[in-house]
Amino acid sequence: MSETRHTKVLIIGSGPAGYTAGVYAARAMLEPILVQGIEPGGQLTTTTEVENYPGFTEVQGPDLMIKMQEHAAAMGTEIIGDYITSLDTSARPFVAKADSGTTYTADAVILATGARAKWLGLESEEKFKGFGVSACATCDGFFYRGQEIVVIGGGNTAVEEALFLTNFASKVTLIHRRDELRAEKILQDRLFKNEKIETLWFHTLEEVVGTDNPLGVEGVVVKNVQTGEVKEIPCKGVFVAIGHAPANELVKDVLELHNGGYVKVKPGSTETSIPGIYAAGDLTDHKYRQAVTSAGMGCMAALDAERFLAEQE
Ligand SMILES: Cc1cc2nc3c(=O)[nH]c(=O)nc-3n(C[C@H](O)[C@H](O)[C@H](O)COP(=O)(O)OP(=O)(O)OC[C@H]3O[C@@H](n4cnc5c(N)ncnc54)[C@H](O)[C@@H]3O)c2cc1C
Repeated sequence: MSETRHTKVLIIGSGPAGYTAGVYAARAMLEPILVQGIEPGGQLTTTTEVENYPGFTEVQGPDLMIKMQEHAAAMGTEIIGDYITSLDTSARPFVAKADSGTTYTADAVILATGARAKWLGLESEEKFKGFGVSACATCDGFFYRGQEIVVIGGGNTAVEEALFLTNFASKVTLIHRRDELRAEKILQDRLFKNEKIETLWFHTLEEVVGTDNPLGVEGVVVKNVQTGEVKEIPCKGVFVAIGHAPANELVKDVLELHNGGYVKVKPGSTETSIPGIYAAGDLTDHKYRQAVTSAGMGCMAALDAERFLAEQE
């Protein structure tokens, strides 16, 4: 049944940014409503061990997100399993329509819709995701100490990930379908000087191969795009670094964006180009993309929204 509900603060997204915003907004007595979206808990629900969230030496991603959800709810955030399909930022209060038919009006909105790593779309890539296939060197590099790794891509992300992974891996092979990189020159210089990195030009990833029990990567099958020759490279980790896509669909035509679609915020805050609309987490962060930084920005967004609402009164 369609209904209209008003809230002082509407939080869109249920990753670390959204739930942390919920904790802070609820403790500020703002009675926030948080709409979870189609992936309750966000990106961390798609991974296994998380070893870099303070307070947890090791925790499973889905378990950590359940704890965050429980924390936000315990503080008084109303958590709703729904999906926001449109957001009218020209109206006051702002108007968000949800897939269920409910309309939310809100005095302030915190956008925490996150981002998605781009994947190649291979069946074997999907099979080994979280078990040797990753899109985040900062998150998972540590698991590959002394191992051979391949990185797929040719832009800044790929080169940065390859360089970072040399801190752990015995060898990193960067696989790129062309014979030149799109990455900045300074990064390329560092890459070519690094003795642990080998670059394989004119190759594409065809398949990730590994064991089923336990699930784990043993190598990749790559194809030379010039000759068609196929060969296998042994490795324990595959890092797909072909970019990220921020989930900006609700606001891409109304908010200022930067760096390929990330919502732009004023430095040191979560204020977007529209007063009363705040952005936190991976949606606005092309650089760090971590759970803890997202949580930090969720806190900032709730505090920014609280101050905005106080000024309105
Ligand atoms: C496989 C993997 C492993 C990772 N491992 C680590 C790690 O070990 N350590 C670490 O710090 N980071 C890790 N990360 C990165 C970390 O998950 C992200 O930085 C973090 O989740 C970003 O949080 P967020 O709150 O910005 O958004 P996300 O976690 O991306 O969540 C976005 C939320 O928005 C919701 N949403 C989107 N659109 C709508 C809409 N229209 N209406 C309502 N809701 C919507 C989604 O349902 C989702 O709940 C990993 C990421 C991946 C993919």
